[in-house]
Parts: sequence; structure tokens; C-alpha cells
Amino acid sequence: MRTSEYLITTLKETPSDAEVISHQLMLRAGLIRKLASGLYTWLPLGLKVLRKVENVVREEMVAAGALEVSMPVVQPAELWQESGRWEQYGPELLRIQDRHERDFCLGPTHEEVVTELVRNEIKSYKQLPLNLFQIQTKVRDEIRPRFGLMRSREFLMKDAYSFHRDHASLEATYQVMHGAYSAIFTRLGLDFRPVIADTGSIGGSASHEFHVLANSGEDDIAFSDSSDYAANVEMAEALAPAGERPAPAATMSDVATPGVKTIDDLAALLDIDPATTVKTLVVAGDEPGTLVALVLRGDHSLNEIKAEKLAGVASPLQMAEEAAVRKALGAGFGSLGPVGLSIPVIVDRSAAHLADFVCGANRDDVHLRGVNWERDCPLARVEDLREVVEGDPSPDGQGTLQIKRGIEVGHIFQLGTKYSEAMHATVLDENGKQVTMTMGCYGIGVSRIVASAIEQNHDDKGIIWPTAMAPYELVIVPLNMQKSEAVAECTEALYRQFREAGVDVMMDDRNERPGVKFADMELIGIPHRIVIGDRALAEGQLEYKGRRDAEPTLIDRDAIFAAVM
Ligand code: ATP
Ligand code: MG
Ligand code: MG
Ligand code: MG
Repeated sequence: MRTSEYLITTLKETPSDAEVISHQLMLRAGLIRKLASGLYTWLPLGLKVLRKVENVVREEMVAAGALEVSMPVVQPAELWQESGRWEQYGPELLRIQDRHERDFCLGPTHEEVVTELVRNEIKSYKQLPLNLFQIQTKVRDEIRPRFGLMRSREFLMKDAYSFHRDHASLEATYQVMHGAYSAIFTRLGLDFRPVIADTGSIGGSASHEFHVLANSGEDDIAFSDSSDYAANVEMAEALAPAGERPAPAATMSDVATPGVKTIDDLAALLDIDPATTVKTLVVAGDEPGTLVALVLRGDHSLNEIKAEKLAGVASPLQMAEEAAVRKALGAGFGSLGPVGLSIPVIVDRSAAHLADFVCGANRDDVHLRGVNWERDCPLARVEDLREVVEGDPSPDGQGTLQIKRGIEVGHIFQLGTKYSEAMHATVLDENGKQVTMTMGCYGIGVSRIVASAIEQNHDDKGIIWPTAMAPYELVIVPLNMQKSEAVAECTEALYRQFREAGVDVMMDDRNERPGVKFADMELIGIPHRIVIGDRALAEGQLEYKGRRDAEPTLIDRDAIFAAVM
């Protein structure tokens, strides 16, 4: 590839709306451009990286015995009604209607569609096990799209679904997938950990998440310091022995508005009638002293409140009490700061006293957990709130826990019969009897991997790609190619040699100053650079620099090919 014929659109300035380094660098290096919130265009350089990741994922899935299919993004509501998820999924499911006013959704995941396929195609236990995968666009109307491709509303996922006649067969394929995932993330050059995960709203019996370790990760993962035990924090908390849970570190009374101890107190302050209007009350604080109280009417989920807060717009939630809330706060909603970092507590009328509940304000770096922004929140009472902190005993009884941040790049589940039962996906067994199939599902965030690789591999100059996903492995930078015949000739010859050897090589033949070219190529993160200039060439030498090297080294023209390969 010659850069003069390519699209290089690097930016000098850091875009102001990009919070994390991967998002900043993907924009600056010209990998992606934003179309709208959570929607991105992949530019040629970025798409090249995405395709490399996709190919590693595909090769390992095929090697693990999975078969590739491609299912529609648009999915009929009837299937989701059959599984029960049309009602359960909540506002993340982007629903649409066709011209006949029939309901559809844009698939956030494909359990229903694949179960529909398999129940029609597979009749006998002899055709099992079967593992089908696709690499395809998913759509989720995320409450808070952010960090670029890390949490977007349209993204590329590899999703696989396995079908079995019994649990033992599922268990075997699950282990094969666990191994395939480890092979994928290892080949991609990522520092990752598989962790035990809770099975959450998808249901089922066993689950692991694969996390890329990075401080910007949105999840906490807990590891034992003396065994292989690793779990996401929700799971570590669920498994922690009850007696050993430390008491929550901040209580409602620590952060509450003075004088407000009960729901009735708050209702009085807000000038509302608790008996008739308060369905759910959410209390959240971002910083000490910034208590926020939101009052909901009806059945609005927590996700909607959060969207509301973030959008900072007038209320489709009928939070008619906004003015009263402002009064209670003495400050506008607009001054909230990073809302996503706060953790809410939900209090219901069944609870007599607010003080019975723990507020998840971020006080002195303490985050209380047990309430989840992402799902419709269950009520969180003090006794349900548990927090695992560093130094707690590991749930496996070996050593103590360390806590690190992770980015969830993969997730595998043993679904059991959740979908096959609801959707009557059966096969005939040896005795001619109908048996419900057992299922597993296995997801990888292909586009999220690209962002997480940058979180792990960058410096102040830009991206440092692991070779397996570098858009180009090598760049040849000729100096003064337009004027020097020797440079032009050497450049063309080397370029041809590397191409013929199958190396993804770039020739930076733009008519730019060397400094501009070097800066661009470092920003874009090309692992190897060869500079060809008249002076060194006259001595039979070229300048080589690995992306992580501090200084270039001179290498003989004749030895350069072997040195880079
Ligand atoms: P998260 O907890 O980050 O919201 P999830 O648990 O909802 O992710 P899964 O349903 O397990 O996601 O989907 C499989 C994989 O798809 C995830 O492990 C993640 O890598 C990726 N993924 C999920 N949501 C997004 C998104 N909004 N943008 C990019 N990748 C995503
Ligand atoms: Mg999610
Ligand atoms: Mg998750
Ligand atoms: Mg998940």
C-alpha cells in the first residue's frame, strides 16, 4: 500500500469528547469517525485492524469445530415473544415496525433466531452436537454509549450457539470454547483473564467472562493471590461467605440531606404524596455532598432515569418533581459530574426508613456494589449489599483477593434449556422420544477488542499494535524519494520484496516532511519502520526502528529483510 494513494486522516488535536485513550487514539489515528452517539464509521485503516481481529476469531472458531452462518439483523417480534424476552429485555432492545405495523427488533443477540433455525433443521440427536457462529453487526440501544467502540450502539460481535442432547455434551463444548477463547486472545497479543461470571439475566448455569486487563475497564475483577481463582466482582461477592463481608463503608446518613431520614421526610421535602405517587425512589450521589434524589412514577426502569440524567433533557418520564428535586438539592441536575460512576440505591415503599439502606455514593474512592445500573435493579437492602475488597479471603479458600479493572471482551454461557424449552426445540433420542435440546452461547466483542488492545498498548506518541492486529506490519519511509533515484530504487525493491514475502507493508511516499511521516506512523502504531535516506544508503545502510525502540539502529541493506522478518 502506498500512502499517497491511501486515506491517511490523522489529527493533531485530541478530540475533546473522547474520554479514554483508545477512543482518542482511534480518532486521532484516523481509524474511525463518529456518525452519531454510539455509531461509528470504520475508515480503511481501522477496518483493516477490525478484519484482522475478525479473521483470528474466525480461524480459531473453525478450528474448534464451529460452523459459520449469517443471520439477519432484523428479527421478528414473534420469536422474542415466544422466549419471553420481548417483555423482559427493556429499552436496550431497539424495536422497529415495518410498513404493515408489524413489530421487529434490531438484534442485540441471536438466541431466538438461532433456536428457530435449529428447531426446524435438526430432528435427531444424531445431528448433535452442533455449534453455529456468525461475525456480525449487533445493535443495542445502550443507555450510555461511550468510550467510542468500547460501548457503542452498533458493534461487531462474534456470537456462537451450541446445541446438545444432554448436559455432558454441552460441558464438553463449553470447555472447547473456553480453550478457543484463550487461543484467540493469546494470538491477538492481549493480557487477559478468564473469570467466573454470574449468569445474570440470560439465565443458565455456568458462565465465564474474558477480560482484558486495563485501568480504564468498566468492570472490577477479583483474583486470588495464591490460586487460579478469578471472578468478576459480582460473582466474588455472591460467593463470599456471609460472615466475612465487611460492613458497607458509607451509609445513607453519611450523605443524606440533613433532616431527611425517611421516605416520608423526603416526600415532604419534595412536596409530593408518597402514598400515591412514589413508586420507586432512587438516591444517588456522585461526590460527598451532592445527593441526588429522583422520584419516579409508574414503572420506569432505572436505565431510563440514567438516560434522563445524562441527556439532561426535559422529562419523558414525567418526573414532574424535577423542580422540587432541584429545590431539595439546591443545585441543578446539570452539575452532576460523571454520573456513570455513581451507584444508586433503590428504595421502595416497603422500606420504612431510608436510613435502612446504603447509598452508593462515591466517597473516598469507595464504591458500593450490589446494585447494577445495567439491569432493572432489584431492591437493595443493607443485608443484600456486599462488597468485596482487596485483602478479603478468596472464595476458593486459597489466599486473599486482589482487585483489578477489566474490559469484558468475551463471554461464554451454559444456557441449558432456557430457550429451547420456551421455544420447543427438541430432537428425537435413541428411543424415538422427543427431548429438549441443551444450549450454550459464546460471544466476543470483535470491535471492542480493537479498543481494548489500544488501552493496553500505547505511549505518548500513539498506538502500539500487537503484530497480529496491526493494520500494516511494516512501513518503509523514503527520504527525498522524488529527487533521489537511489532512494526511489531501493524503496521500490524493498517494498516488492516484503510484499512478495506476504508482509503487510506500507510505503510512505507522500510528499511530506520526514517528521510528519514519522509522527503519523507512530500515531497509527505500525510495529516496524525502515527509513531509506541518501546518506546512509551511500554507506549501504538503512535505518530501522521498532515501535517500542527508543532510538533507530543502522542495518546493512542486505541484512534488513532478515532483520525485520
Ligand atoms: P457489557 O457488560 O460490557 O455491557 P454485555 O455483558 O452486555 O457487555 P454480552 O451480552 O455478554 O455483553 O455480549 C458479548 C460481548 O459483546 C461482550 O463480552 C462485549 O465484548 C461485547 N459487547 C457488548 N456490548 C457492547 C457494546 N455496546 N459495544 C461493543 N461491544 C459490546
Ligand atoms: Mg451490556
Ligand atoms: Mg457484562
Ligand atoms: Mg456479558
